[in-house]
Amino acid sequence: MCADRIVYSTHPRPDPLCPRCGEPAERCACRTVELPPNRQTARLEHDRKRRRGKSVTVIGGLVLSEAKLTELTKLLKNRCGAGGTVKDGEIEIQGDHRDKVAQILHELGYRTKMVGG
Ligand SMILES: [Zn+2]
Repeated sequence: MCADRIVYSTHPRPDPLCPRCGEPAERCACRTVELPPNRQTARLEHDRKRRRGKSVTVIGGLVLSEAKLTELTKLLKNRCGAGGTVKDGEIEIQGDHRDKVAQILHELGYRTKMVGG
């Protein structure tokens, strides 16, 4: 899955660097750096494959610490009335809740992008 070629050319200033690996937030895998919501684009995908045919909404592309991801997942689960989990830095919400999730993320200040079908 390398389809997410997001270009950050409009950023006016450099991203904060990770204190652990020295990489900018987008490339850091340590999850010590977070970007403010308005500088993030969440990738919303409806997936039927990864959960053996069960429909899930996958929210990827977020640069957030594990704690923040968990917090956001809890909020999305509550608002969508569905189960969900954090997996490999992505949030999975059971069922197709892309529209609802997009609305919630917009309220929080995130940008969103629908991926796939
Ligand atoms: Zn790092």
